[in-house]
Amino acid sequence: MCLNPNEHSQNPSHFEDSDQQIAHPAHRDLAWADYRELIEGMTFFDPHIHMVSRTTDDYQAMRQAGIVALIEPAFWVGQPRTGLSSFKDYYSSLVGWERFRSSQFGIKHYCTMGLNSREANNEPLAEQVMEILPLYIYKEGVVGVGEIGFDDQTPAEEKYFRLQLELAKKAKLPVQIHTPHRDKKNGTERSMAIALEHGLDPSWVIVDHNNEETVKRVLDQGFWAAFTIYPFTKMGNERMVKVVEQYGPERIMVNSAADWGISDPLAIPKTAALMKMRGIPTETIRKVTYQNAIDAFGKSGQIDLNDFGDDTSQQEADKFHGNSILRGGQQLNPSKDSLVIQ
Ligand SMILES: [Zn+2]
Repeated sequence: MCLNPNEHSQNPSHFEDSDQQIAHPAHRDLAWADYRELIEGMTFFDPHIHMVSRTTDDYQAMRQAGIVALIEPAFWVGQPRTGLSSFKDYYSSLVGWERFRSSQFGIKHYCTMGLNSREANNEPLAEQVMEILPLYIYKEGVVGVGEIGFDDQTPAEEKYFRLQLELAKKAKLPVQIHTPHRDKKNGTERSMAIALEHGLDPSWVIVDHNNEETVKRVLDQGFWAAFTIYPFTKMGNERMVKVVEQYGPERIMVNSAADWGISDPLAIPKTAALMKMRGIPTETIRKVTYQNAIDAFGKSGQIDLNDFGDDTSQQEADKFHGNSILRGGQQLNPSKDSLVIQ
């Protein structure tokens, strides 16, 4: 398959950039079965994925590939929300139905809560959202304020970014920063400078969507550097391997940021497999695909490793407010090796 990167390069939910990268990695020739062998027995944590946009097939494939936990940041849904109720329902789903759905596949679901940068520009609505955010950030499973930061780097975006940094400080929660895809370098610098200005400890701040141009400054200033693996373009798997070869595993983490755009919910296990092929030590891979995310977001006090994986998949009731993921006649199969739905 040969995709024209100009046609397929954009993940619109994470906004467009001009950072084109045509990926022709040799590993594309490998079948998924081969990846699976390389990462046999490894477990993964995806600290940035928008599951409300994904299917049960995705949950199933993720669990089978070793993903045991994830974080779903509150974000933009692809078109502007027209009222506060849409925000309320979305936030409720992140701590309610979506967490339940994830639990049915043996994946522990966490989220971050925030007003996204793009919708910060609708100030009348943003004001209302700021009023209800405190009702959600203290809920169980909320591991941070996010994803917040800049899109177009407007004054309104800066205003609500600052207000939400204060909210995070008050709630003693980590911050997940979405860096802009246009003018990324400046936007990333500005985001970090503002966080420091507000007195945030950089070890409580995860700066997301890094690339080769931003990573050094982020690490040098003590922040966590997260990388989103985008299929076909931007930060591809091969480039991620090179970043880890150059900088090592400390304070670096990988995520898929998969959503309703062209994206891959298996980006982490696939990148881990590629790292294995490139001879990166298993402990390094474990840090960037699992442990570092836990260390960073675990500062929220919300992450308990005992909640991960199969043992807990059946702990939550099979219904959420009377609703199940099963359709007539289907049964949930608790066997960890087999399909969830028989
Ligand atoms: Zn996102």
